[in-house]
Amino acid sequence: MTEAWQFSSPGNLNRQLERIEPSAVEPAIAAATAAWRGWAKLGLTERIDRLKAVEAGLREISEQLAMGIALETGKPLTESRGELGAVLAKFALTFEDAERYLSREAALGGPFPAEVRHLSRGPAVVIGPFNFPLHLANGAILPHLVAGNTVIFKPSPIGAIVAKHYAEVFEQHLPAGVFQVVQGGADEGMSLCTDDRVRAICFTGSVGVGRAIAIAVAGDFSKNLALEMGGKNALVLLADGDLRAAAKAAALGICATAGQRCNSTSRAIIHASQFDRFCEALKEELGAYQPGDPCLETTTLGTLVSEAAHQRYATALQSGGNWLVEGAAMPEWNGLPGYYVKPAARVWKSFRAGMQCPHLANEIFAPLIDVFLAENDDEIIALHNATPFGLTASIFTSSRARFEEIGSELRVGNLYANLATTFSPSTLPFGGLGLSGNGKPTSRGFIRFTSDEQAVQFGNDCT
Ligand code: NAD
Repeated sequence: MTEAWQFSSPGNLNRQLERIEPSAVEPAIAAATAAWRGWAKLGLTERIDRLKAVEAGLREISEQLAMGIALETGKPLTESRGELGAVLAKFALTFEDAERYLSREAALGGPFPAEVRHLSRGPAVVIGPFNFPLHLANGAILPHLVAGNTVIFKPSPIGAIVAKHYAEVFEQHLPAGVFQVVQGGADEGMSLCTDDRVRAICFTGSVGVGRAIAIAVAGDFSKNLALEMGGKNALVLLADGDLRAAAKAAALGICATAGQRCNSTSRAIIHASQFDRFCEALKEELGAYQPGDPCLETTTLGTLVSEAAHQRYATALQSGGNWLVEGAAMPEWNGLPGYYVKPAARVWKSFRAGMQCPHLANEIFAPLIDVFLAENDDEIIALHNATPFGLTASIFTSSRARFEEIGSELRVGNLYANLATTFSPSTLPFGGLGLSGNGKPTSRGFIRFTSDEQAVQFGNDCT
């Protein structure tokens, strides 16, 4: 989706950024392979101690990293700080998960004493997207390291500078080769994925790239592949739901990170009895998100990430439709040249029109929300499931029974009641159905996908 290197800040194109060069792949894989056994043999406690030193080092530079994310990706500073908070919180959560999932389990009931062990695999490759350039990769890097694997992190070319500073802290505290960053794009990413010595891949990004990786490594069936991809997430408002709260959540869900989140609320499905009033409320709530310099604390709507993304949004705004809020892609804001935007909302006033919406299978990845009218439960469910994605959904209702009734029909990996679709805390697993993932949820509990199980039994005379 986003591939080109860019060397100026999306919030101020006059501001030049450090140039990062692509790295050599082969030496990184060789070093990760050589370092693996030593790291695995250190034992869990020692590995966790080393990672606690990394956590302290990252904490010291967290403000610098947050500003780096704002500068490089156009994500507002307050959101970027939130991302760093999630990066740091992930250390303790991963250590807890290790206790739960990596302990040896006594296997009872067999003819001999037995247990199930968890074996580290070797080098793992973590490929990250631009929109959470540290948090999402970090969520796969830590479990792999704790489980005794070595890690090569291939960040997005947009996010490469902040990834470099993040990686320096790991390199300072871990033995050589245990954690490395390989800078680059598609070529470096694919070379890493297809190397036989790499035993696991965790990819977060677009469906097209995820599919290309899956096809390329399909023959190596023992290579563990975890894919986290896109979404076309819907907020559903039932007849008994709080429409004001729903409109607020929808506006937040499409304006956070300027609509560039996998869990962005790119769709709202509204019961007919609430439709007109919801639309009015949504218009008002979207008005609260005004563009601004991503590096300022007061900014609530950052920029799009790149010229290509900005152009894609401009094209979408010109593509016709019934606009509730027209939106804009602007070349500057307050004298700063950049990829500035205003949010947009488009309405589909009948079930038939909604089902024919040509945008159900594509992420626009910009602050554009499509609002659909539904007359009854069947229409709500059909509209919801009319996309091939299945990442997050939220149902606004005051009735738990209605939540269960509708929720059980929605094809989605993360289901919320009366919350924004973007409210996905690190304390829970996070993974998508359909085109959104391949059944290995990241975030909480991801550590269970970072090792191989081995069944061991002790026959007579082994004491
Ligand atoms: P992208 O697919 O363009 O790039 C993701 C990463 O893949 C980058 O590091 C890129 O350099 C690398 N890459 C590109 N081509 C490759 C190839 N042929 N082989 C190996 N690696 C390759 O995605 P993006 O634009 O950076 O991020 C946006 C996408 O990520 C959206 O689709 C979004 O929904 C998705 N996303 C998903 C989640 C989730 O958890 N489900 C989270 C965030 C973003």
